[in-house]
Amino acid sequence: MSKPDILIPSPLRDMIIDGLEPHFTLHKLYEAEDAEAFLKEREAIIRGIAVSFFNVDQPFIDRFPNLEIISNFGVGYDKVDARHCGTRGIIVTNTPDVLSEEVADTAIGLMIMTIRELSAAERWLRDGNWVKKGAYRLTPGTLRGRTLGIFGLGRIGKAIATRAEAFGMNVHYHGRTQQAGVDYTYHPSLVSLAEAVDTLMIVAPGGPETQHMVGERVLEVLGPDGVLINIGRGSVVNETALIEALKKGTIMAAGLDVFEQEPHVPQDLLDLPNAVLLPHVGSASVATRDAMGQLVVDNLKSWFSTGKPLTPVAETPFPRT
Ligand code: NDP
Repeated sequence: MSKPDILIPSPLRDMIIDGLEPHFTLHKLYEAEDAEAFLKEREAIIRGIAVSFFNVDQPFIDRFPNLEIISNFGVGYDKVDARHCGTRGIIVTNTPDVLSEEVADTAIGLMIMTIRELSAAERWLRDGNWVKKGAYRLTPGTLRGRTLGIFGLGRIGKAIATRAEAFGMNVHYHGRTQQAGVDYTYHPSLVSLAEAVDTLMIVAPGGPETQHMVGERVLEVLGPDGVLINIGRGSVVNETALIEALKKGTIMAAGLDVFEQEPHVPQDLLDLPNAVLLPHVGSASVATRDAMGQLVVDNLKSWFSTGKPLTPVAETPFPRT
């Protein structure tokens, strides 16, 4: 029996390719000299796509009449039009749970770096200033007495909340629905959450529904002692409004792992001393990325051997409803 044909639009880690190769015929779009001709030749045979950070929009999806499944590397799948896949009966899978604790660790690390200026303090030492100029300045910010507002109390948000409690922080949250089984204070709007806290952690998904939800108004009510941490998606934050707020002191500081136009980061942000910037490393350890990669492979293997996906996303439930 011939192996199912899988399209790989952009490079994936070797362990994913090695895991797929024995079971599937792989078509690597990124190695094609003429991408259009490459796709045209294969449109009719592609039954699955394994993808990481590649725009899988409606026109792209509709090129493949026999597409059954898209296996996305990452829990965030805002680059895949999952809603459209739902209407076409195509399953989309992601990689939930296996990365939650790692991303929560990174979020807490970024929050402490931002509030206690740890990256600036390290640069002070490395630049020889400890010897030349003396101790690094006392930080105006402290974690003590802070209240954390989490926008998106899902799997990762809850792992962050548990850690924040251990640091003695009060936790509030906002999402479209109040979560069962948690005691944290719920806010029906993002503005009311930002008003009630001084540290706002974004861990909501990207996409049109959350686009620029953090803008001028949210930053204004967060206030001059306010700290914004974004570990979710760059599109949730209006970067222009954030830059203005950091310049004017509308908020105190921001820690960002994600950006609107990755990997491009505006020069204005790079120039700001009250912004801590990480290159999207939330889940980026070998162990966690291996676990995510294995789930990309296992979803495809499961689909083509048993007819069942392991981790379908909400827009393409299984069994189909
Ligand atoms: P979950 O689906 O478990 O949680 C998402 C949360 O966001 C839910 O609580 C949901 O609550 C809320 N939410 C979703 N849509 C909206 C909306 N339109 N308005 C308000 N709230 C909303 O996902 P995870 O916790 O597993 O992951 C969250 C996100 O973190 C991912 O989508 C991804 O973008 C990001 N991420 C970033 C990483 C990094 O490296 N920086 C790594 C991994 C993930 P409700 O349904 O009640 O609204």
